[in-house]
Amino acid sequence: MRQGRSRRRNLSVAAAGLKRDGLMAIREILQLGNPDLYEISTEVEEDELDLMGDIASDLEDTMLDFRERYGAGRAIAAPQIGERKRMVYMNTGEPVILLNPVITEYSPEMIEVWDDCMSFPDLLVRVKRHRSIAVTCRDLEWKERKIEADDGLAELLQHEIDHLDGVLAVMRAIDERSFVTRSERWRVKGE
Ligand SMILES: [Zn+2]
Repeated sequence: MRQGRSRRRNLSVAAAGLKRDGLMAIREILQLGNPDLYEISTEVEEDELDLMGDIASDLEDTMLDFRERYGAGRAIAAPQIGERKRMVYMNTGEPVILLNPVITEYSPEMIEVWDDCMSFPDLLVRVKRHRSIAVTCRDLEWKERKIEADDGLAELLQHEIDHLDGVLAVMRAIDERSFVTRSERWRVKGE
């Protein structure tokens, strides 16, 4: 279901191969507790690429809207807007679409981070992630790609690929005290 179309233009997506119709579609982001967030998403097939392009445009619009409101948001997974397909939209400077991403290499070294999520925007969760990973995926032209990622990009990709398996960061909390509200986190950091 597409909703909230308006006539604002978004020109940042050409690099990802997205064909835009000039209309924005900001979708509802499913929130923590919604059972659909715990479902496993299905593989994207090559004959679904047109549909995936449309959904990718919606992911971009939805994430950029979130960024305007919260000042955060680097990536979003299709199941977060109710599309149970293995697709991630990421934008850390330029848009990247990952179809059927698979983590093929993990560093043994782990890092601890405060993780956040557009599905629980006021909560941070302390999690452990692999410091470096390699991901294989396809793009919107069905070309195979390999992404090698460290630190911030590595933890981001681990978070997003978890969404495709119905896993949320709260399920990876290090212990029962690994939660903080965003306002409390800022209060502590500001001390
Ligand atoms: Zn998330």
